[in-house]
Amino acid sequence: MDVFSLIYKRLIEWVITPITEQFYSIFSFNGRLGVVFLCASYGVAYGLFRFRKQHGLTDAPSFWQFIGGSRVYFHRSAWLDCRYYLLRKLLKLALVLPIVHLVDPYILRSGDYLAFFNNLWGARPRPGDGLSLALLYGLGVFLVKDFTHYWVHRAFHSRWLWAFHKVHHSAPVLVPATASRIHFVERIVGTLSITACLGLYVGTFWYLSGGEISHYRLFGVTYVVFIFNSLAANLRHTQVWLSFGPVLEHVLNSPAQHQIHHSDAPRHFNRNFGTNLSLWDWMFGTLYVTNARPEPLRFGTGEQDHQRYLTVYSLIVTPFVDIAGKLPGKRLRGIKTQTPYS
Ligand SMILES: [Zn+2]
Ligand SMILES: [Zn+2]
Repeated sequence: MDVFSLIYKRLIEWVITPITEQFYSIFSFNGRLGVVFLCASYGVAYGLFRFRKQHGLTDAPSFWQFIGGSRVYFHRSAWLDCRYYLLRKLLKLALVLPIVHLVDPYILRSGDYLAFFNNLWGARPRPGDGLSLALLYGLGVFLVKDFTHYWVHRAFHSRWLWAFHKVHHSAPVLVPATASRIHFVERIVGTLSITACLGLYVGTFWYLSGGEISHYRLFGVTYVVFIFNSLAANLRHTQVWLSFGPVLEHVLNSPAQHQIHHSDAPRHFNRNFGTNLSLWDWMFGTLYVTNARPEPLRFGTGEQDHQRYLTVYSLIVTPFVDIAGKLPGKRLRGIKTQTPYS
């Protein structure tokens, strides 16, 4: 094989194929930002618009205005979120996946726990895979992920980690792509924490059920996540106010509740850390419920940050600058950093 065909082969293998796969993932069901889920969310928003229009509950002259109009979708921040979304797909390939794989062997995995329990208490009889067992297992995977994410999110609102999570909160307007405005440090910590907690859960479940079982999936994703993503999850990062009402919001996290989480009003700080469930917020004292009447909200982290998160480069680098400023004897002057949770 000559040198050019070798380079071509490597280019296809390491660059073209992974990038194409990332592009196709937009059309898959794996990930909230898939085209199908986006359409479902805006379909719900349209239903909401028609309902409010008929009952005189909105003064928006058109659906476009109702979802925010050019003030939101042509905002510099929305455009930045789209660019960052594309770059993040590349960052994932170049940075996140290699680092996670590097650390992976040091995290106890499901198989390790299974072997550990087998050694400790002996192997259990295998009952075989049943649908109910697969559904129960899938529900557990969902709960463990959602619970772990609640605590990781809460930890990232603390003094030292806030600088990284602030990137997500720095968006002054919310569009579905804002969900992807997550710093790679937060992504790596989140992925590793979830892997470790899932390892323990899956290992324990396998042991108790007598062996490896696969969880019930719909179109390749955990069925519970599929259901939640179909239920307007993309509206969390929009201006569309969709409340589930104060009772249901003790368990399910509504788009309005996540918009409260993004509010720059101090009375909303440290509220609604949950992703799909707000049950954890209720259990651990961080719940804020909403009702059908929209609250006037302003998103972002305040005036002082407006000029600090305008480029993809600043989204990646600013957290490190902020942390360096917090080190003893290196306090940055003139930059007031907002730390809503400590
Ligand atoms: Zn947050
Ligand atoms: Zn958010």
